[in-house]
Amino acid sequence: MEYQLELSFQQPDQPAIRGQPDDEAIRMIREFEPLALRNDPRGYCVCTSEGKDSRVLGHLMRRAGVRHFYLHSITGIDPPELVYFQRRNFQMYQDVGLTAYDVMYKNSIWRLMLQKKFPPLRRMRWCCAHLKERRSEEYGSAILALGVRKYESTRRAKSRDELKIAAHGPNRQGHIMAWDNHENRGTFETCYAQAEKRVNPLAHWPDSYIWDYSREAGLEQCGLYGEGFRRLGCIGCPMAREEERRREFDRWPKFREQWIRIFDWVIRLRIEEGRSNQHASGREWFDWWLSDRARETPADENQTILDNYEKGGTTTNEHDTF
Ligand code: SF4
Repeated sequence: MEYQLELSFQQPDQPAIRGQPDDEAIRMIREFEPLALRNDPRGYCVCTSEGKDSRVLGHLMRRAGVRHFYLHSITGIDPPELVYFQRRNFQMYQDVGLTAYDVMYKNSIWRLMLQKKFPPLRRMRWCCAHLKERRSEEYGSAILALGVRKYESTRRAKSRDELKIAAHGPNRQGHIMAWDNHENRGTFETCYAQAEKRVNPLAHWPDSYIWDYSREAGLEQCGLYGEGFRRLGCIGCPMAREEERRREFDRWPKFREQWIRIFDWVIRLRIEEGRSNQHASGREWFDWWLSDRARETPADENQTILDNYEKGGTTTNEHDTF
């Protein structure tokens, strides 16, 4: 495995006011290593999908020479090409003596959909908690290292905060899941709700740094980026833009067929339970779900449903609007 040590993103006309981004990230990773080892003798838990950001994060960890292990959550709805890429990389990590875990979900997204009887929505994405955020024994008490980044914005440059408390609250306004890119991301976060600490060494990296780094380090990235995909993750994720989701379903049509089958199935279940249906067919519901209109469902309506769901595992008529 290659460990390139000399990397430079600095333009000749830029003043040398701070270290290179990769040097800063490595310094930070090394600085927190004693804390990581106190939490778990295996060191950092690098949460990775092997998408471009977590690939860079893993490379920085190896360059930093800190103790760490890799953890990948199987979602069952990732692009097949990304899954093969991740499996191959994990084999390579294991071949050089690093520990890498694949963590399987307990319930597939399809089973969850049949249980909840409505699809994940942008403001009510019940799937992350089950597919990506579910804590398994492999996590131990390790400090998590994630490749999440702040959105690129002018505010980002002004707020290079080193310590952030992850947003939580009863109404979940501004709630950030551990794997989200968000303008509120910090390089070190403490999540009291989950009693965990996280480092986000790439929090301040814009896209261009990720690609510059990959190029200069000779770090291979998943071939799907070469096809024009900007983000890789769950196919049809409600957090993505409609255009991206449509493109994903065009690229992997079997997933579209499966979603439509599940929507049809849920409609039948809802009829059996005497619930109303806004959509006559799975296809119609799927089209609504894909459209940006689906995301405009008022936040408090969604929230009421989510709160009801989390309190008792059942929903009331509110979600008949779906
Ligand atoms: S589909 Fe999106 S919201 Fe759902 S688990 Fe995947 S990333 Fe999270």
